Amino acid sequence: MTRPTYTEIDLAALRHNCHIAQQASPGSKIIAVVKANAYGHGAVTCCHTIQNHVDMFAVSSLQEALLLRTAQITLPILLLEGCFDLPELEAAIQHGFEVVFHHQYQLDMLAKIDTQALASSVRPIRAWLKVDTGMHRLGVPVDDAAKTYAQLQSHPLIAKNPVLMTHLAVSDELRSDYTLMQLRQFQLLLESLPNSEHIPTSIGNSGGMMDWPQCQSDWARPGIMIYGISPFGHNHPVADKLTPVMSLRSKIISLRDVSMGSSVGYGCNWRASKASKIAIVPVGYGDGYPRHAKNGTPVLVNGQRAPLVGRVSMDMLSVDVTDISDVDIGDDVELWGQNLPVNEVAKHADTIGYELITRMTGRAQRIYC
Ligand SMILES: *Cc1c(COP(=O)(O)O)cnc(C)c1O
Repeated sequence: MTRPTYTEIDLAALRHNCHIAQQASPGSKIIAVVKANAYGHGAVTCCHTIQNHVDMFAVSSLQEALLLRTAQITLPILLLEGCFDLPELEAAIQHGFEVVFHHQYQLDMLAKIDTQALASSVRPIRAWLKVDTGMHRLGVPVDDAAKTYAQLQSHPLIAKNPVLMTHLAVSDELRSDYTLMQLRQFQLLLESLPNSEHIPTSIGNSGGMMDWPQCQSDWARPGIMIYGISPFGHNHPVADKLTPVMSLRSKIISLRDVSMGSSVGYGCNWRASKASKIAIVPVGYGDGYPRHAKNGTPVLVNGQRAPLVGRVSMDMLSVDVTDISDVDIGDDVELWGQNLPVNEVAKHADTIGYELITRMTGRAQRIYC
């Protein structure tokens, strides 16, 4: 390696977090959500690592699903946004993917399929009917759900008993009336459907699984927690058991003493209030480190916290290491990860840990260990 910047991906931690997810939802099957290249962790390697530890994978698109199949991932794969057009739906059925139906147009697509042509060569797939209980993003209205469920149920290419699913809008908040309302709507809908005892359900994402026993369902859909990151902005006993999978690491490539009043970096937006020692680290927004990170964002240098100073540039950032003992060129830097929670860094950049890990550009090489 030349440029000493990389993301270390701890695969044992990934497996560990899957077990914590299972413990958090003991009665549920686990769908590991690996969309967006496993939240920036590398979907193929992550899926190989946990395929014997979870029951299924979920991605956002046919393309993401095919990438996994091509890489010999054999577990069932769910397309969370369903299919975007008819050829894609046909392809999804041919490949045996499981498909979310979240809108009437997707049911209309299903009705247009040349069933006879496909029926001889494929097996029916499992459909997931997503209902909108309050997220107001995807999902058929609760009032239409009985009709659409029956439509799915009667289609020759759809297996019996589609899954009824919904998504929570504020599962990261404690004791939210809104979540209780969503859960109640879902329960009422379920009970109103014929043979409801045979209808499998799926409700919780990480926040729901970790904090809402009422949202236990047949299939849980953990994403962020399997990467070892808390969905919450507050402390939580389950979050304490998770281990961060991604650590963004680098090394110091330059050190300089600056006098009081000197500025550092583009725009001269930080000035030394006293004689200071500045370390340069070769990681920047070109790698995915947020340019919005403010002065004072914590950076770990030799395991000690030091403040980011000056603007983050494309390839580099600067850290005030005046108060760190024994600092030298080549010393280890952690930008976030096992010793510095990504959520803490995210707060200083006005975002959430989800975004920081997912937006890693791949320029910083992933090293699996
Ligand atoms: C992304 C996603 C999840 C996972 O959410 P986390 O908060 O990362 O656990 C679950 N369900 C759906 C429908 C999603 O889109």
